[in-house]
Amino acid sequence: MACIEARGLTKAYGKHVAVKGIDLTVERGRIVGLIGPNGAGKTTALKAMLGLTPFKGDLRVLGRDPWSERDLLMQDVSFIADVAVLPRWLRVSQALDYVAGVHPRFDRARAERSLAQTVIKRDSKVGVLSKGMVTQLHLALVMAIEAKLLVLDEPTLGLDILFRKQFYDTLINDYYDDDRTIVITTHHAEEIEHILTDVVFINDGRIALNSSMDALAARYVEVRVDPAQLEHARALKPIRERQVFGRSTLLFDGVAMEALEPLGEVRMPGIADLFVALLSNTPAANTGVNA
Ligand code: ATP
Repeated sequence: MACIEARGLTKAYGKHVAVKGIDLTVERGRIVGLIGPNGAGKTTALKAMLGLTPFKGDLRVLGRDPWSERDLLMQDVSFIADVAVLPRWLRVSQALDYVAGVHPRFDRARAERSLAQTVIKRDSKVGVLSKGMVTQLHLALVMAIEAKLLVLDEPTLGLDILFRKQFYDTLINDYYDDDRTIVITTHHAEEIEHILTDVVFINDGRIALNSSMDALAARYVEVRVDPAQLEHARALKPIRERQVFGRSTLLFDGVAMEALEPLGEVRMPGIADLFVALLSNTPAANTGVNA
């Protein structure tokens, strides 16, 4: 049984259709990045999966209907919106009490052990903690939940780069195992691409790309082209061309590596660059430089 199975998942707010018939299968043990611009429908899709909003279409999460079986589903799901959700007046010890009270799979001792590795005091109020400390607290709480599915919606919003890195390191080293499935949305695609097994691009309520990272690496190649090879490279019909440090960098879809290697330095494109390339309507031939 897949962890998430969506067929024709649709969500409208009044006349505005935020999610437009998404088909998506996420197998267990995958780490999936949901990537898309503001307002693309990522949070809405996640809310449907978490049983936080009614929807149209077929959706099963861990074999359950999230809307009608939310209570049961939540026993196996852990979820962080962004780190600002903990109220400022709450003491750390009360946060532990609260999660212990509401979540049957919360391992308090484990949370205490994680907190012992930080400088966070039990009697501090959330409001006096730095943003990074709030993240550490959040992590300690969420990662002490024995969940089968972890949903992270912009988990590091507003945090500096050191804490963001620490967050993902902890996630992978201390939390993830093959039995757990993780779904992450972020606007910092470059920070999570090395931990993802799959990437799903969402644009305007639709899936624009759904691929394993392995398949992506096999399909898309970026070449920093030797100037003498530029015309030859352009003849292979890149899907995007841009300038990087004064050198033309061309992105190819499905062109054999043997044909590309003689043209310059080849590498896998970053997810953010790929996203821009796939979602921009500008023909590559007209784009000497683009965003
Ligand atoms: P971001 O990256 O900015 O967080 P997102 O991809 O998560 O964006 P959503 O929050 O899912 O996007 O929003 C998708 C669309 O649905 C947007 O146009 C948004 O304005 C709209 N929307 C979201 N929530 C509501 C709501 N409760 N009522 C009405 N419209 C909503």
